[in-house]
Amino acid sequence: MTKPRLREALDSIPAYKAGKPPAAAEGPSFKLSSNENPYPPLPGVLAKAAAAAGQMNRYPDMGMSALHAALADRLGVPQDQFASGAGSVAVLYHLLQATCAEKDEVVYAWRSFEAYPIAVGVTGATSVQVPLDADARHDLPAMSAAVTDSTKVVIVCSPNNPTGPAVRRQELLDFVESVPSRVVVVLDEAYREFVTDADNLDGLELVRGRDNVVVLRTFSKAYGLAGLRVGYAVGPAAVAEAIRKCALPFGVSQIAQDAAIASLDAEVDLMQRVKELVAERERVTTSLTEQGWSIPAAEGNFVWFPLGDATDEFAAVCGQAGLSVRPFPGEGARVTIGETSANDGLLEVAARWRAEHH
Ligand SMILES: *Cc1c(COP(=O)(O)O)cnc(C)c1O
Repeated sequence: MTKPRLREALDSIPAYKAGKPPAAAEGPSFKLSSNENPYPPLPGVLAKAAAAAGQMNRYPDMGMSALHAALADRLGVPQDQFASGAGSVAVLYHLLQATCAEKDEVVYAWRSFEAYPIAVGVTGATSVQVPLDADARHDLPAMSAAVTDSTKVVIVCSPNNPTGPAVRRQELLDFVESVPSRVVVVLDEAYREFVTDADNLDGLELVRGRDNVVVLRTFSKAYGLAGLRVGYAVGPAAVAEAIRKCALPFGVSQIAQDAAIASLDAEVDLMQRVKELVAERERVTTSLTEQGWSIPAAEGNFVWFPLGDATDEFAAVCGQAGLSVRPFPGEGARVTIGETSANDGLLEVAARWRAEHH
């Protein structure tokens, strides 16, 4: 019997590794492996989601008009410049579908978000991965130099998942100027709300007045709606329209759309939570530095432990302490900032590790 013929491009695509839940440990355990928000939904947001659940026999608003109107109002950008999807990863898939096919190239930093090679791979295009610099930052001049006639898209992840640093304002401006305007520059700002480095740039500033810059944002991280799947792109109207053409019909549930709108309305309370997570991040990174760790600038809701070959062992030790973290074997471990007690647990493990390994 002959087998069904699948696309060859799929053979080289790595599988997405989702963050694991903590293994059963004695005592409390915490999932610090997926950069989720540890806070439960705000009551007002939950009520809106529950009300929308009562209408689940109906299809959602396919055009996401209420959500895009709310975003347009909030961000001061015309509605036709938005495209949404089931998480900003879905929006990235749609954008790559709209721009790339076999023989095209997509440039991005590496190590960066593990969804990128998969999303590029399914289009049949080629990933061009440009190594991070010694501080685990994007090497934007090298990325610019990697652009060829075949390049369709460049992705900049700021702050970079999993290493933490955000790109700096002037270097990003210079970078965007250096890239030909036929290339779409995607700025993935999944963790934008957690950035405190004053030397950063609001992606919307780059979108305005340019025909080739697209910003990706999500309700999964700061807004705490990871389980509902909603994210969006803001970009030039022509690109936003192309992304919408490639989107799955009715891909974002009404529950997600209504919860996202309610979250925009609850922004003051949500940003208070973000502030508390950022304060925890600062507490954790300060303590880790005092312990002797060199941690790259942490601008998201996570910290990066550059452990090289010791990564798996560190992850195992964390697991024994009831903390599930995200190891990248041979490189390092990414640990989400969680509840205070989870962060305390991490600091204890990290201190013990230092004592035993140095
Ligand atoms: C989490 C994350 C996203 C968004 O994921 P969705 O849940 O699909 O919105 C996008 N980019 C990066 C770098 C992320 O870490």
